[in-house]
Amino acid sequence: MKHCLVTGGAGFIGSHLAEELLARGHQVSVIDNESTGSPDNLAAVKDHPRLHYTKGSVADPGLVRRAVEDVDEVYHLAAAVGVRLIADAPIHTIETNIYPTELILKELGRRHEAGRPVKLFLASTSEVYGKNPKARWNEDDDLVFGSTTRARWSYGASKAIDEFLALAYWRERRLPVVIGRFFNVVGPRQTAAYGMVLPGFVDAALAGQPLTVHDDGQQVRCFGYVTDTVRAVLALMDEPEAVGRVFNIGSDEPIRILDLARRVIAAVDPSVGVEFISYAEAYSADFEDCRHRVPNLDRLRATIDYRPEHDLDAILRRVIDWKRGKP
Ligand code: UDP
Repeated sequence: MKHCLVTGGAGFIGSHLAEELLARGHQVSVIDNESTGSPDNLAAVKDHPRLHYTKGSVADPGLVRRAVEDVDEVYHLAAAVGVRLIADAPIHTIETNIYPTELILKELGRRHEAGRPVKLFLASTSEVYGKNPKARWNEDDDLVFGSTTRARWSYGASKAIDEFLALAYWRERRLPVVIGRFFNVVGPRQTAAYGMVLPGFVDAALAGQPLTVHDDGQQVRCFGYVTDTVRAVLALMDEPEAVGRVFNIGSDEPIRILDLARRVIAAVDPSVGVEFISYAEAYSADFEDCRHRVPNLDRLRATIDYRPEHDLDAILRRVIDWKRGKP
C-alpha cells in the first residue's frame, strides 16, 4: 500500500484518480480548494477509511509541507483549467499554475535531500504546444504561443514553466518526476461552467436548445475518456522508464467540433439545431483558438501498455447517461 497525495483531488480528473488509487488499495490524501472542484465529486468515496480530505490551498506553504511529509507519491493536478476561466481570470491562472508547483517541488526536493524521495506526477496540458501547425504533436516539438497580449496563451505558458521546473529538478537533483500532457479529457463530473465543449453540448441538447459552435466548427480536437487517462497516469507512475520524461496522454482520433455537435444531436435529440457564434462573441475580441490539436502517442505506447477502452460513441453514451442522471 502506498500513500498518495492528489492535489486537485475534488476536481474532474483528480476525483477519478483518487477513486482509482483507493480501489487499488492505496491510502489517498486529497487537497482541494474547491474553486472549480467540489467534494460532491468524491461522494462515492467520502466515507472511505483510506481517504483523507483537506479543503485548502496548495499555495499554502505550511499545508504543502505537512501534506508531503509522509507520502510516497504526489499527483499534482490542482490548476486553473478551462479556456473560459483563463480568458476571464489570467492573474488567477498564472498564479495558481506556477507558485504551487514551485512549492511542491521545493518540498519534495527537501525530502529527497533527506534521503526520502517521492515520485511526482505533474499534470500538464496539450496547451503547451500552443498553436504549433504540425498535424500531430510529439513531446519534443516546439511550443508555439501567440502574443502575450492574448490571455489564452498564459495557460500553456504557465504550464510550460511548471514543466521546465520539474525537468530541472530531475536533471539537477534527480528528483523523480513524470510529466503528462493531457489532451481534451472528458467524462462524468466535467462541468460546462468553464467553457468545456462536450458537457456544454450535452447540456444544450438535453434542454432542447441549439448547440453553440464557435467560428466555423472546423477546428479539430481528440477526446479521451477520463478513466482511460487515469489508467495511463498510474501505469506511467509504475514504470521506471517514464521518470524524467514528458508524455502526451489522451485520444489520437480527431474530430471536428461541428461533427462532435452533430454526434451529440443525433444521440440526444435530432430536432435540436446548431448556432454558430464567433470567437469574439464566445470569449473576447482578442481570443485566438488552436485550430488543430492531435497528439502523437508513440512515446506513450512504447512506454506503457496503453489501450483506451472508450471510443467516442462509448464516451458520448457515458456522458449523456451521467447528465441524464443514470449511474
Ligand atoms: N467550443 C465550441 N462551443 C462551445 C465550447 C467550445 O464550439 O460551447 C469549441 C472551442 O472554441 C474549441 C473547442 O470547442 O475550439 C474545444 O473547446 P474546449 O474549451 O472544450 O477545449 P480546448 O480544446 O479549447 O482547451
